[in-house]
Amino acid sequence: MGPARMHTLPPQPPLGTTAMNVRTKGQESARPLVKSSHPDEPWTPEKSDKRYQVQGWGRPYFHVGENGHVMVTPDPERDSQLDLHELTVELKDRGLDMPLLIRFPDIVRNRIARLNKAFATAIQEYDYKSTYQGVFPVKVNQQHHLIEDIVEFGAEFDYGLEAGSKPELLIALSTMRRSGLIVCNGYKDRTYIETALLAQRLDKKVIVVIERLEEVDVAIEASKKLGIRPMFGVRAKLSSKGVGRWAKSAGDRAKFGLSTAEMVVLVERLTEEGMLDTLLLLHFHIGSQISSIIPIKSALQEASNIYTELCKMGCAMGYMDVGGGLAVDYDGSKTDFHASKNYQLQEYAYDVVDALKNACEKTNCPMPIIVSESGRAVAAHHSVLVFEVVGANEVRYGEPVAPDQTAHRVLRELWETYKNVVPKNVQESFHDATQAKEEAQSLFKYGYLGLREHAHAERLYWHCCEKIQTTLRRLKYVPEELKDLETSLAAIYYCNFSVFQSAPDIWAINQLFPIMPIHRLDEEPSVTCTLADITCDSDGVVDRFIDLEDEREVLNVHPYHPGQPYYLGMFLNGAYQEILGDLHNLFGDTNAAHIRLSENGYDVVHVVKGDSVTEVLQYVQYNPDDMVEHVRRQAEKAAREGRLDNAQVRMLLGHYEESLRGYTYLTD
Ligand code: PLP
Repeated sequence: MGPARMHTLPPQPPLGTTAMNVRTKGQESARPLVKSSHPDEPWTPEKSDKRYQVQGWGRPYFHVGENGHVMVTPDPERDSQLDLHELTVELKDRGLDMPLLIRFPDIVRNRIARLNKAFATAIQEYDYKSTYQGVFPVKVNQQHHLIEDIVEFGAEFDYGLEAGSKPELLIALSTMRRSGLIVCNGYKDRTYIETALLAQRLDKKVIVVIERLEEVDVAIEASKKLGIRPMFGVRAKLSSKGVGRWAKSAGDRAKFGLSTAEMVVLVERLTEEGMLDTLLLLHFHIGSQISSIIPIKSALQEASNIYTELCKMGCAMGYMDVGGGLAVDYDGSKTDFHASKNYQLQEYAYDVVDALKNACEKTNCPMPIIVSESGRAVAAHHSVLVFEVVGANEVRYGEPVAPDQTAHRVLRELWETYKNVVPKNVQESFHDATQAKEEAQSLFKYGYLGLREHAHAERLYWHCCEKIQTTLRRLKYVPEELKDLETSLAAIYYCNFSVFQSAPDIWAINQLFPIMPIHRLDEEPSVTCTLADITCDSDGVVDRFIDLEDEREVLNVHPYHPGQPYYLGMFLNGAYQEILGDLHNLFGDTNAAHIRLSENGYDVVHVVKGDSVTEVLQYVQYNPDDMVEHVRRQAEKAAREGRLDNAQVRMLLGHYEESLRGYTYLTD
């Protein structure tokens, strides 16, 4: 048994049982509706905060201010707030077009501090006889300014970097211009290994983690050639698996790591070479976004035992690297749902320390320095994508019009259904309206109903649906078959951004991000919508949103007024999205601004201009000068033949050249 816990956490279920906060997805049919506010009660910013669940996913960095704008607190220790809407308008005035990625490095600083503090607390409370030394996995977000900031902020905690490839090692070596730990994961060739060995002479601890047995001989040979004693780690292929999308990162069929049998071969090989003193670190990684604490505990137990066995076999050891996986609560529900997590950072740190302490005490093995490679949990919160709605397709049909007495029976029936919708007959009304609509379609198809009558029937059908939907709000439970009505009635808001470039995980793995308006939050968001991006791809949509109970297919927004800017924010997207983003339809990198708190409010410390059209065309091997020339020749021919006048030639070439220089997104 481990030591008694000193912290007060909610009781945990024993290993292997269901976690406490398991989301009850099977109970969807009994989903209560969010009641609409009483018409006499004014809408308030607090209600918006609740509606968008900001308390759950956003604290302490985001909340809705009294002015109805999203407020950002980049450094909760300083309590300075920034108005995200004002900031957006100001950056736009300075020439940064939408979509705009706003990064808050102070949030990263705070995340690093919290991570270190959580481990320091656990180490102190458990009387753990070693320290914590985290590393940031560069692959999570390789942006230059961010990695520089992480190295700077991490200095006081001896926080290092993790590289998963040769290019990432090159980043780590150039940005870590201080002493520190660099963990080298990923598949390695000779150059990667030799670079890592030589870098030890740059006043750094560079640990080469063996992911495949084949790497050992290459590394041993390189170390002999260079006369540099290596610092090895080994990645364990655990049998304990994670959960969700990345569950395959562990287990027998995992792509990475050594099985126990291979690990024994490794130890024997090192023994033969008299190099047992070079094996310093055991690493495991059971996947990203591990939403439940149970598989983490199970992996820790297994890995701690491997660690102590390696000690017993005479390996030097000294570091236990528990990998990444610390999850982010994207939907704020605090459950083990894939977009959430059912544990707190502090609980995670307690569990890591507890497992290692127990295993080491049992075997009299010295307690190792604990390394974690938490990426998402450090980087996700710091960036917000702000984008603008550029149009709306709302299901609006004006006031319902009664058919006259001579109108077709089907129209009169639809009107009767519409008039008589009441709470107790919502389901029956829906059946009647649907049947009448289908009959109207058949009648039209066979020529018994004119186009105007058919259109009237269609409008009356949607009026019935709207009235049924409004009536449903007065009911406690929504009948199963009417649950999709909200989605059918939802508007489509067209937004100036590309899902594929700015939030590829929405498309690729159905990831949920919190999305909400960043202003007008003192006004009721009375419209439900889905979002469509500006790519010509039907997958370029957002139709799954965070919800406390499950997922929602619609988002509450405010009525769109053409000509009046309406901004939405996609939050917590600082991890993985930028580098996974692609150039679908040639929409390039967005503009980005780095905002740091300063004495007088804030400083725009870096502006990273998004791709120009010329840049994205060059990625696909076009030469913009040649392109201009080809179009110019065609325009001249058209002018000679009288198909374009001179002013039109000027305009065409002007637009062409200006577009080449410009941003890839909509700008006017
Ligand atoms: N370490 C390794 C080896 C990884 O593969 C990953 C990502 O999957 C991480 C660390 C970071 O994981 P996370 O962002 O979930 O903390």
